[in-house]
Amino acid sequence: MNSIDLIIFDCDGVLIDSEPLAARTLAEAVTRGGLPMTAYDVLVEFTGKSEPEIRAILETRGLENIEAVFSAWHAEIFATFRRELKVMAGMEDVLRALDVAKCVASNSSVRRLKASLGLLDIWDEFAPHVFSAEMVAAPKPAPDLVQLCLLKMAVTNTRSLLVDDSAAGIMAARAAGVKAIGFVAPSDPRPGRRELLLQAGAQAVAFGTAELHELIGELVHRRQSVQASVGGLGS
Ligand SMILES: [Mg+2]
Repeated sequence: MNSIDLIIFDCDGVLIDSEPLAARTLAEAVTRGGLPMTAYDVLVEFTGKSEPEIRAILETRGLENIEAVFSAWHAEIFATFRRELKVMAGMEDVLRALDVAKCVASNSSVRRLKASLGLLDIWDEFAPHVFSAEMVAAPKPAPDLVQLCLLKMAVTNTRSLLVDDSAAGIMAARAAGVKAIGFVAPSDPRPGRRELLLQAGAQAVAFGTAELHELIGELVHRRQSVQASVGGLGS
């Protein structure tokens, strides 16, 4: 019997390789707005944060015409997604192998989810179980969105597992009493991700989808053989 009945997936940086595209286009929009930032700055500071949080931070730094900057960014990021967005390499194999329920918990808006994940075939594997922070009072790291997933999917926290590439997502899972696996995309240039995600409460961290596939198998089926290769499952 499985020990897990539900896997909750973060979207950006886990299901889809969207973070490099989002960072590049946001850096360009903010720089054009008068506050120079690189794509790397954006990745380090904003990945995993909701748009209202990002706006608030940029406002305190003196970015003017925030509405215009963000509407220009939306146009650009959605066009870029249409041209360049891809499923995270190997993720289709991970999803195909699952024999438990799954859903999406994303700090992105519903509109952005439809304009990103919605462009790809894997949308149909999740819909209608695609949940946005817009549907709850507070985004990850608050537990609200994870709790919404548990409620909608009718699964208890102890039989659920969340996969996220940001500390905020791992913290949200832990705050809701859900086990969490950290994920590091091969395209992620930031150092120290494994330590950061473990510190946030991840039980283990997977680099790329092959390791994720293995870790999920271990946790769902409670086999005990993979500690050495993936750095320890903890308890
Ligand atoms: Mg993410």
